[in-house]
Amino acid sequence: MGENLFSKVWQMHEVQKLPSGESQLFIGLHLIHEVTSPQAFQMLREENLKVAFPERTIATVDHIVPTDSQERPFLDPLAEAMMKELEKNAKEFGVAFYNPASGKQGIVHIIGPELGLTQPGMTIACGDSHTSTHGAFGAVAFGIGTTQVRDVLASQCLAMMKPKVRKLDVSGKLGKGVYAKDVILKIIRQLGVKGGLGYAYEYAGETFENFSMEERMSVCNMSIEGGARAGYVNPDKTTFDYIRGREFAPKGAAFEKAVKWWKSIASDSNAKYDDVFKMNVSSLAPVVTWGINPGQSVSVDENIPDPKEMPESERQSAEQALQHMSLNPGTPIEGTKINVAFIGSCTNSRISDLREAAKIAGGGKVAVGVKALVVPGSQKVKAQAEKEGLDKIFTKAGFEWRSAGCSLCLGMNTDRLKGNEICASSSNRNFIGRQGSPQGRTLLMSPAMVAAAALNGKVVDVRGVM
Ligand code: SF4
Repeated sequence: MGENLFSKVWQMHEVQKLPSGESQLFIGLHLIHEVTSPQAFQMLREENLKVAFPERTIATVDHIVPTDSQERPFLDPLAEAMMKELEKNAKEFGVAFYNPASGKQGIVHIIGPELGLTQPGMTIACGDSHTSTHGAFGAVAFGIGTTQVRDVLASQCLAMMKPKVRKLDVSGKLGKGVYAKDVILKIIRQLGVKGGLGYAYEYAGETFENFSMEERMSVCNMSIEGGARAGYVNPDKTTFDYIRGREFAPKGAAFEKAVKWWKSIASDSNAKYDDVFKMNVSSLAPVVTWGINPGQSVSVDENIPDPKEMPESERQSAEQALQHMSLNPGTPIEGTKINVAFIGSCTNSRISDLREAAKIAGGGKVAVGVKALVVPGSQKVKAQAEKEGLDKIFTKAGFEWRSAGCSLCLGMNTDRLKGNEICASSSNRNFIGRQGSPQGRTLLMSPAMVAAAALNGKVVDVRGVM
Protein backbone atom coordinates (compact mmCIF):
# COMPACT_ATOMS: atom_id res chain seq x y z
CA MET A 1 0.00 0.00 0.00
CA GLY A 2 1.06 3.57 -0.65
CA GLU A 3 1.55 6.35 1.86
CA ASN A 4 -0.47 9.43 2.69
CA LEU A 5 1.04 12.93 2.64
CA PHE A 6 1.02 13.23 6.40
CA SER A 7 3.20 10.14 6.89
CA LYS A 8 5.58 11.12 4.10
CA VAL A 9 6.13 14.64 5.47
CA TRP A 10 6.39 13.39 9.04
CA GLN A 11 9.08 10.85 8.12
CA MET A 12 11.08 13.44 6.19
CA HIS A 13 11.14 15.72 9.23
CA GLU A 14 11.69 13.12 11.93
CA VAL A 15 15.14 13.73 13.45
CA GLN A 16 14.87 10.72 15.74
CA LYS A 17 12.43 8.60 17.73
CA LEU A 18 12.52 9.55 21.40
CA PRO A 19 12.42 7.01 24.25
CA SER A 20 8.92 8.35 25.07
CA GLY A 21 7.68 7.09 21.71
CA GLU A 22 7.38 10.66 20.43
CA SER A 23 9.17 11.90 17.36
CA GLN A 24 11.66 14.73 17.44
CA LEU A 25 10.31 16.68 14.52
CA PHE A 26 12.17 19.39 12.66
CA ILE A 27 9.99 22.46 12.06
CA GLY A 28 10.42 24.19 8.72
CA LEU A 29 8.58 27.38 9.57
CA HIS A 30 7.82 28.89 12.96
CA LEU A 31 5.23 31.65 13.05
CA ILE A 32 5.00 33.72 16.20
CA HIS A 33 2.73 36.44 17.53
CA GLU A 34 2.46 38.69 20.56
CA VAL A 35 0.37 36.46 22.84
CA THR A 36 2.23 33.17 23.12
CA SER A 37 5.82 34.30 22.47
CA PRO A 38 6.80 36.70 25.34
CA GLN A 39 7.27 34.00 27.99
CA ALA A 40 9.04 31.77 25.47
CA PHE A 41 11.58 34.49 24.68
CA GLN A 42 12.01 35.13 28.39
CA MET A 43 12.78 31.44 28.96
CA LEU A 44 15.40 31.64 26.21
CA ARG A 45 16.99 34.62 27.92
CA GLU A 46 17.06 32.83 31.27
CA GLU A 47 18.84 29.86 29.68
CA ASN A 48 21.15 32.12 27.69
CA LEU A 49 19.92 30.59 24.43
CA LYS A 50 19.58 32.06 20.97
CA VAL A 51 16.88 31.46 18.36
CA ALA A 52 18.30 28.47 16.48
CA PHE A 53 16.96 29.40 13.03
CA PRO A 54 15.88 33.07 13.00
CA GLU A 55 15.47 32.86 9.20
CA ARG A 56 12.76 30.22 9.73
CA THR A 57 10.95 32.37 12.34
CA ILE A 58 8.44 35.07 11.37
CA ALA A 59 6.56 37.37 13.74
CA THR A 60 3.43 39.43 13.37
CA VAL A 61 0.93 41.12 15.66
CA ASP A 62 -2.75 40.20 15.44
CA HIS A 63 -4.62 39.31 18.65
CA ILE A 64 -4.23 42.53 20.61
CA VAL A 65 -3.77 45.03 17.82
CA PRO A 66 -6.64 47.56 17.72
CA THR A 67 -8.52 47.57 14.44
CA ASP A 68 -9.91 51.10 14.69
CA SER A 69 -6.97 53.41 15.31
CA GLN A 70 -3.55 51.76 15.10
CA GLU A 71 -1.76 54.95 16.04
CA ARG A 72 1.04 54.43 18.57
CA PRO A 73 0.99 54.30 21.49
CA PHE A 74 -2.14 52.13 21.42
CA LEU A 75 -4.87 53.44 23.70
CA ASP A 76 -4.93 50.15 25.61
CA PRO A 77 -1.73 50.14 27.73
CA LEU A 78 -1.65 46.32 27.85
CA ALA A 79 -1.78 46.10 24.04
CA GLU A 80 0.98 48.70 23.79
CA ALA A 81 3.11 46.77 26.29
CA MET A 82 2.66 43.50 24.34
CA MET A 83 3.52 45.23 21.08
CA LYS A 84 6.68 46.72 22.60
CA GLU A 85 7.66 43.34 24.01
CA LEU A 86 7.40 41.69 20.59
CA GLU A 87 9.32 44.54 18.97
CA LYS A 88 12.07 44.13 21.56
CA ASN A 89 12.20 40.33 21.25
CA ALA A 90 12.22 40.35 17.45
CA LYS A 91 15.07 42.87 17.40
CA GLU A 92 17.13 41.17 20.09
CA PHE A 93 16.77 37.67 18.59
CA GLY A 94 17.03 38.70 14.92
CA VAL A 95 13.52 37.65 13.87
CA ALA A 96 11.64 39.35 11.01
CA PHE A 97 8.62 41.18 12.40
CA TYR A 98 5.75 42.22 10.17
CA ASN A 99 4.24 45.08 12.15
CA PRO A 100 1.56 47.49 10.88
CA ALA A 101 4.26 49.79 9.47
CA SER A 102 5.48 46.97 7.18
CA GLY A 103 2.33 46.80 5.04
CA LYS A 104 2.46 43.00 5.53
CA GLN A 105 0.89 42.71 8.99
CA GLY A 106 -2.18 40.64 9.60
CA ILE A 107 -3.53 37.54 11.27
CA VAL A 108 -0.67 35.07 11.36
CA HIS A 109 -2.63 32.43 9.41
CA ILE A 110 -3.50 34.90 6.70
CA ILE A 111 -0.05 36.38 6.12
CA GLY A 112 1.90 33.09 6.01
CA PRO A 113 0.08 31.91 2.87
CA GLU A 114 -0.21 35.32 1.24
CA LEU A 115 3.53 35.97 1.53
CA GLY A 116 4.30 32.54 0.08
CA LEU A 117 5.94 31.42 3.34
CA THR A 118 3.52 28.51 3.64
CA GLN A 119 4.47 25.80 1.16
CA PRO A 120 3.64 22.13 0.56
CA GLY A 121 5.62 19.50 2.42
CA MET A 122 6.64 21.84 5.22
CA THR A 123 6.24 21.31 8.92
CA ILE A 124 4.80 24.51 10.41
CA ALA A 125 4.25 25.41 14.04
CA CYS A 126 2.73 28.45 15.72
CA GLY A 127 1.55 29.17 19.25
CA ASP A 128 -2.03 29.31 18.06
CA SER A 129 -4.67 26.59 17.66
CA HIS A 130 -5.65 27.57 14.14
CA THR A 131 -2.23 26.82 12.66
CA SER A 132 -4.02 23.92 10.98
CA THR A 133 -4.99 26.55 8.34
CA HIS A 134 -1.61 26.08 6.64
CA GLY A 135 -2.43 22.44 5.96
CA ALA A 136 -4.48 23.70 3.00
CA PHE A 137 -1.15 23.76 1.12
CA GLY A 138 -0.23 20.17 1.92
CA ALA A 139 1.84 21.25 4.92
CA VAL A 140 1.83 19.47 8.27
CA ALA A 141 0.89 22.34 10.57
CA PHE A 142 0.20 22.36 14.31
CA GLY A 143 -0.80 24.78 17.00
CA ILE A 144 1.57 24.58 19.98
CA GLY A 145 1.75 25.90 23.55
CA THR A 146 4.16 28.45 25.01
CA THR A 147 6.66 25.86 26.27
CA GLN A 148 6.75 24.30 22.82
CA VAL A 149 7.22 27.77 21.30
CA ARG A 150 10.33 27.99 23.48
CA ASP A 151 11.46 24.54 22.28
CA VAL A 152 11.04 25.50 18.63
CA LEU A 153 12.76 28.86 19.13
CA ALA A 154 15.70 27.17 20.83
CA SER A 155 16.03 24.02 18.73
CA GLN A 156 13.67 24.32 15.71
CA CYS A 157 12.30 20.96 16.88
CA LEU A 158 9.23 19.63 18.64
CA ALA A 159 8.66 16.40 20.52
CA MET A 160 5.37 15.02 19.24
CA MET A 161 3.40 11.81 19.07
CA LYS A 162 2.41 11.04 15.50
CA PRO A 163 -1.37 11.22 15.14
CA LYS A 164 -3.43 8.78 13.11
CA VAL A 165 -4.79 9.97 9.76
CA ARG A 166 -8.46 10.06 8.78
CA LYS A 167 -9.43 10.69 5.19
CA LEU A 168 -12.54 12.84 4.81
CA ASP A 169 -13.74 12.00 1.35
CA VAL A 170 -16.27 14.66 0.39
CA SER A 171 -18.16 14.72 -2.88
CA GLY A 172 -20.76 17.00 -4.45
CA LYS A 173 -20.92 20.57 -5.71
CA LEU A 174 -22.11 23.27 -3.34
CA GLY A 175 -25.34 25.06 -4.12
CA LYS A 176 -25.65 28.83 -4.38
CA GLY A 177 -25.19 30.54 -1.00
CA VAL A 178 -23.41 27.54 0.48
CA TYR A 179 -19.70 27.84 1.25
CA ALA A 180 -16.61 26.06 2.54
CA LYS A 181 -17.55 27.29 6.02
CA ASP A 182 -20.82 25.38 5.82
CA VAL A 183 -18.97 22.22 4.80
CA ILE A 184 -16.60 22.30 7.77
CA LEU A 185 -19.38 23.18 10.21
CA LYS A 186 -21.36 20.22 8.85
CA ILE A 187 -18.36 17.89 9.23
CA ILE A 188 -17.88 19.02 12.84
CA ARG A 189 -21.59 18.55 13.55
CA GLN A 190 -21.45 15.09 12.05
CA LEU A 191 -18.23 13.84 13.70
CA GLY A 192 -18.46 15.92 16.88
CA VAL A 193 -16.05 18.39 18.43
CA LYS A 194 -14.04 15.50 19.86
CA GLY A 195 -14.39 13.27 16.80
CA GLY A 196 -10.95 14.15 15.52
CA LEU A 197 -9.03 13.54 18.75
CA GLY A 198 -5.83 11.66 17.98
CA TYR A 199 -6.18 12.28 14.23
CA ALA A 200 -4.94 14.51 11.47
CA TYR A 201 -7.59 15.06 8.81
CA GLU A 202 -6.91 14.66 5.11
CA TYR A 203 -9.59 16.58 3.20
CA ALA A 204 -9.98 14.71 -0.06
CA GLY A 205 -12.54 14.19 -2.80
CA GLU A 206 -14.01 16.31 -5.56
CA THR A 207 -15.46 19.01 -3.28
CA PHE A 208 -12.09 19.99 -1.82
CA GLU A 209 -10.29 19.39 -5.11
CA ASN A 210 -12.57 21.97 -6.73
CA PHE A 211 -12.17 24.46 -3.89
CA SER A 212 -9.93 27.52 -4.23
CA MET A 213 -6.99 27.83 -1.83
CA GLU A 214 -8.97 30.32 0.25
CA GLU A 215 -11.82 27.83 0.63
CA ARG A 216 -9.36 25.08 1.54
CA MET A 217 -7.84 27.37 4.17
CA SER A 218 -11.25 28.01 5.76
CA VAL A 219 -11.81 24.26 6.04
CA CYS A 220 -8.35 23.36 7.37
CA ASN A 221 -8.55 26.29 9.79
CA MET A 222 -11.42 24.66 11.68
CA SER A 223 -9.88 21.16 11.88
CA ILE A 224 -8.98 21.90 15.46
CA GLU A 225 -12.64 22.70 16.24
CA GLY A 226 -13.42 19.11 15.31
CA GLY A 227 -10.70 17.89 17.67
CA ALA A 228 -8.15 17.03 14.95
CA ARG A 229 -4.48 17.86 15.58
CA ALA A 230 -4.05 19.06 12.00
CA GLY A 231 -5.85 19.12 8.66
CA TYR A 232 -4.51 19.16 5.13
CA VAL A 233 -5.36 19.01 1.44
CA ASN A 234 -3.04 17.37 -1.07
CA PRO A 235 -1.17 19.96 -3.14
CA ASP A 236 -2.26 20.28 -6.77
CA LYS A 237 -2.34 22.81 -9.60
CA THR A 238 -4.61 25.12 -7.56
CA THR A 239 -1.95 25.15 -4.83
CA PHE A 240 0.96 25.78 -7.21
CA ASP A 241 -0.89 28.56 -9.05
CA TYR A 242 -1.61 30.28 -5.73
CA ILE A 243 2.01 30.13 -4.57
CA ARG A 244 3.62 31.16 -7.87
CA GLY A 245 5.00 34.71 -7.77
CA ARG A 246 4.50 35.30 -4.04
CA GLU A 247 7.28 37.03 -2.14
CA PHE A 248 8.83 33.98 -0.47
CA ALA A 249 7.95 31.42 -3.14
CA PRO A 250 10.81 29.84 -5.08
CA LYS A 251 11.42 31.62 -8.36
CA GLY A 252 12.12 30.46 -11.94
CA ALA A 253 13.73 27.03 -12.24
CA ALA A 254 13.65 26.63 -8.46
CA PHE A 255 9.87 26.92 -8.58
CA GLU A 256 9.56 24.20 -11.24
CA LYS A 257 11.87 21.98 -9.19
CA ALA A 258 9.75 22.65 -6.11
CA VAL A 259 6.53 21.76 -7.97
CA LYS A 260 8.04 18.42 -8.94
CA TRP A 261 8.82 17.70 -5.30
CA TRP A 262 5.46 19.04 -4.05
CA LYS A 263 3.69 16.65 -6.42
CA SER A 264 5.70 13.73 -5.06
CA ILE A 265 4.63 14.28 -1.46
CA ALA A 266 0.87 14.10 -2.21
CA SER A 267 -0.90 11.00 -0.89
CA ASP A 268 -0.49 7.99 -3.17
CA SER A 269 -3.68 6.82 -4.86
CA ASN A 270 -3.49 3.58 -2.85
CA ALA A 271 -2.47 5.32 0.39
CA LYS A 272 -3.30 3.73 3.72
CA TYR A 273 -5.48 5.58 6.27
CA ASP A 274 -6.46 4.79 9.84
CA ASP A 275 -10.05 5.75 9.06
CA VAL A 276 -12.14 7.00 6.14
CA PHE A 277 -15.28 9.16 6.39
CA LYS A 278 -17.48 9.91 3.39
CA MET A 279 -19.98 12.70 2.92
CA ASN A 280 -21.91 14.28 0.04
CA VAL A 281 -22.62 18.01 0.20
CA SER A 282 -24.79 18.50 -2.91
CA SER A 283 -27.86 19.25 -0.84
CA LEU A 284 -26.09 21.08 2.00
CA ALA A 285 -27.82 24.25 3.21
CA PRO A 286 -26.14 27.19 5.00
CA VAL A 287 -25.21 26.20 8.54
CA VAL A 288 -25.64 28.24 11.74
CA THR A 289 -24.54 27.32 15.26
CA TRP A 290 -27.09 27.53 18.07
CA GLY A 291 -24.85 26.46 20.95
CA ILE A 292 -21.53 27.00 22.69
CA ASN A 293 -19.30 24.77 20.62
CA PRO A 294 -18.92 24.66 16.82
CA GLY A 295 -20.52 21.22 16.63
CA GLN A 296 -23.83 22.53 17.96
CA SER A 297 -25.25 23.67 14.65
CA VAL A 298 -28.22 23.26 12.33
CA SER A 299 -29.02 24.12 8.75
CA VAL A 300 -30.60 27.56 8.50
CA ASP A 301 -33.90 25.91 7.54
CA GLU A 302 -33.92 23.59 10.56
CA ASN A 303 -35.24 24.07 14.07
CA ILE A 304 -33.03 24.37 17.13
CA PRO A 305 -32.86 20.81 18.48
CA ASP A 306 -34.50 19.65 21.68
CA PRO A 307 -32.00 18.24 24.20
CA LYS A 308 -34.66 15.72 25.26
CA GLU A 309 -34.37 14.11 21.84
CA MET A 310 -30.58 13.94 21.93
CA PRO A 311 -28.37 11.06 23.00
CA GLU A 312 -27.65 11.11 26.72
CA SER A 313 -24.00 12.08 26.12
CA GLU A 314 -24.97 15.34 24.37
CA ARG A 315 -27.94 16.35 26.51
CA GLN A 316 -26.28 18.21 29.36
CA SER A 317 -24.09 20.31 27.10
CA ALA A 318 -27.09 21.14 24.89
CA GLU A 319 -29.15 22.25 27.89
CA GLN A 320 -26.32 24.43 29.12
CA ALA A 321 -25.91 25.85 25.61
CA LEU A 322 -29.58 26.74 25.20
CA GLN A 323 -29.65 28.35 28.62
CA HIS A 324 -26.61 30.49 27.80
CA MET A 325 -27.90 31.35 24.34
CA SER A 326 -31.47 32.06 25.58
CA LEU A 327 -32.77 30.06 22.61
CA ASN A 328 -35.77 27.79 22.66
CA PRO A 329 -35.66 24.20 21.41
CA GLY A 330 -38.01 23.38 18.58
CA THR A 331 -38.02 26.94 17.19
CA PRO A 332 -36.41 27.92 13.86
CA ILE A 333 -32.85 29.28 14.00
CA GLU A 334 -33.89 31.55 11.13
CA GLY A 335 -35.32 34.74 12.57
CA THR A 336 -33.01 34.78 15.63
CA LYS A 337 -32.41 38.49 16.29
CA ILE A 338 -28.83 39.76 16.41
CA ASN A 339 -27.12 42.85 17.89
CA VAL A 340 -23.71 42.58 16.25
CA ALA A 341 -22.39 41.26 12.92
CA PHE A 342 -18.71 40.39 12.53
CA ILE A 343 -17.02 39.56 9.24
CA GLY A 344 -13.41 38.65 9.97
CA SER A 345 -11.03 36.12 11.64
CA CYS A 346 -8.47 33.68 10.27
CA THR A 347 -11.34 31.49 9.06
CA ASN A 348 -13.10 34.03 6.88
CA SER A 349 -11.39 37.38 6.32
CA ARG A 350 -9.72 36.76 2.97
CA ILE A 351 -10.51 38.65 -0.19
CA SER A 352 -12.95 36.02 -1.50
CA ASP A 353 -14.85 36.15 1.81
CA LEU A 354 -15.13 39.93 1.60
CA ARG A 355 -16.23 39.75 -2.05
CA GLU A 356 -19.04 37.30 -1.19
CA ALA A 357 -20.17 39.39 1.78
CA ALA A 358 -20.05 42.59 -0.29
CA LYS A 359 -22.37 41.03 -2.90
CA ILE A 360 -24.98 40.72 -0.14
CA ALA A 361 -24.25 44.07 1.53
CA GLY A 362 -24.29 46.06 -1.72
CA GLY A 363 -27.33 48.29 -2.01
CA GLY A 364 -28.63 47.36 1.44
CA LYS A 365 -28.52 49.02 4.85
CA VAL A 366 -27.43 47.52 8.15
CA ALA A 367 -30.55 47.11 10.31
CA VAL A 368 -31.20 49.80 12.90
CA GLY A 369 -29.58 48.87 16.22
CA VAL A 370 -27.07 46.42 14.70
CA LYS A 371 -23.34 47.12 14.95
CA ALA A 372 -21.63 45.59 11.92
CA LEU A 373 -17.86 45.23 11.44
CA VAL A 374 -15.76 44.12 8.50
CA VAL A 375 -12.18 43.36 9.53
CA PRO A 376 -9.83 42.28 6.72
CA GLY A 377 -7.40 39.54 7.76
CA SER A 378 -4.31 41.38 6.62
CA GLN A 379 -3.11 44.73 5.35
CA LYS A 380 -2.77 43.15 1.90
CA VAL A 381 -6.37 41.91 1.95
CA LYS A 382 -7.47 45.39 3.04
CA ALA A 383 -5.53 47.06 0.23
CA GLN A 384 -6.94 44.65 -2.36
CA ALA A 385 -10.49 45.15 -1.09
CA GLU A 386 -10.08 48.91 -1.26
CA LYS A 387 -8.72 48.62 -4.81
CA GLU A 388 -11.92 46.77 -5.72
CA GLY A 389 -14.11 49.33 -3.92
CA LEU A 390 -15.43 46.78 -1.40
CA ASP A 391 -14.77 49.16 1.50
CA LYS A 392 -17.14 51.69 -0.09
CA ILE A 393 -19.84 49.06 -0.55
CA PHE A 394 -19.59 48.09 3.10
CA THR A 395 -19.42 51.60 4.54
CA LYS A 396 -22.30 52.79 2.35
CA ALA A 397 -24.37 49.95 3.75
CA GLY A 398 -23.47 50.99 7.31
CA PHE A 399 -20.69 48.52 8.16
CA GLU A 400 -17.55 49.75 9.93
CA TRP A 401 -14.44 49.17 7.80
CA ARG A 402 -11.49 48.29 10.03
CA SER A 403 -7.77 47.54 9.91
CA ALA A 404 -6.29 44.05 9.98
CA GLY A 405 -6.37 41.97 13.14
CA CYS A 406 -8.23 39.28 15.07
CA SER A 407 -10.73 41.85 16.33
CA LEU A 408 -14.03 40.42 17.60
CA CYS A 409 -12.97 36.80 17.08
CA LEU A 410 -11.82 36.91 20.70
CA GLY A 411 -11.90 39.40 23.53
CA MET A 412 -8.23 40.39 23.60
CA ASN A 413 -8.56 43.82 22.04
CA THR A 414 -10.98 46.72 22.14
CA ASP A 415 -13.60 44.98 19.93
CA ARG A 416 -15.82 43.12 22.37
CA LEU A 417 -19.44 42.19 22.84
CA LYS A 418 -21.25 43.97 25.63
CA GLY A 419 -23.51 42.19 28.11
CA ASN A 420 -25.53 39.43 26.48
CA GLU A 421 -25.29 40.79 22.95
CA ILE A 422 -25.73 38.18 20.26
CA CYS A 423 -23.33 38.23 17.33
CA ALA A 424 -23.57 36.72 13.87
CA SER A 425 -19.92 35.87 13.31
CA SER A 426 -17.76 34.47 10.54
CA SER A 427 -15.17 33.34 13.11
CA ASN A 428 -14.52 29.81 14.36
CA ARG A 429 -15.37 29.62 18.06
CA ASN A 430 -18.63 30.19 19.89
CA PHE A 431 -17.37 29.28 23.37
CA ILE A 432 -18.87 31.17 26.32
CA GLY A 433 -17.03 34.48 26.73
CA ARG A 434 -15.06 34.08 23.50
CA GLN A 435 -16.05 37.47 22.11
CA GLY A 436 -15.13 39.39 25.24
CA SER A 437 -18.31 39.35 27.35
CA PRO A 438 -19.04 36.43 29.70
CA GLN A 439 -22.72 36.72 28.77
CA GLY A 440 -22.07 37.36 25.08
CA ARG A 441 -23.52 34.95 22.51
CA THR A 442 -22.06 33.86 19.18
CA LEU A 443 -23.75 32.39 16.11
CA LEU A 444 -21.14 31.02 13.69
CA MET A 445 -21.92 31.15 9.98
CA SER A 446 -20.41 32.07 6.60
CA PRO A 447 -19.46 35.70 5.80
CA ALA A 448 -22.35 35.99 3.30
CA MET A 449 -24.77 34.78 5.97
CA VAL A 450 -23.32 37.35 8.41
CA ALA A 451 -23.84 40.13 5.85
CA ALA A 452 -27.44 39.02 5.32
CA ALA A 453 -28.03 38.90 9.08
CA ALA A 454 -26.57 42.41 9.44
CA LEU A 455 -29.00 43.86 6.89
CA ASN A 456 -32.01 42.06 8.33
CA GLY A 457 -31.17 42.32 12.04
CA LYS A 458 -31.76 38.60 12.34
CA VAL A 459 -30.61 35.27 10.96
CA VAL A 460 -31.91 34.79 7.41
CA ASP A 461 -31.27 32.24 4.71
CA VAL A 462 -28.78 33.95 2.41
CA ARG A 463 -30.08 31.89 -0.52
CA GLY A 464 -33.28 33.90 -0.35
CA VAL A 465 -31.55 37.28 -0.68
CA MET A 466 -29.07 36.53 -3.45
S1 SF4 B 1 -8.65 35.30 14.21
FE1 SF4 B 1 -9.36 34.31 16.04
S2 SF4 B 1 -8.92 32.14 15.85
FE2 SF4 B 1 -7.72 33.26 14.30
S3 SF4 B 1 -5.73 33.61 15.22
FE3 SF4 B 1 -6.98 35.40 15.67
S4 SF4 B 1 -7.96 34.98 17.63
FE4 SF4 B 1 -7.15 33.03 16.87
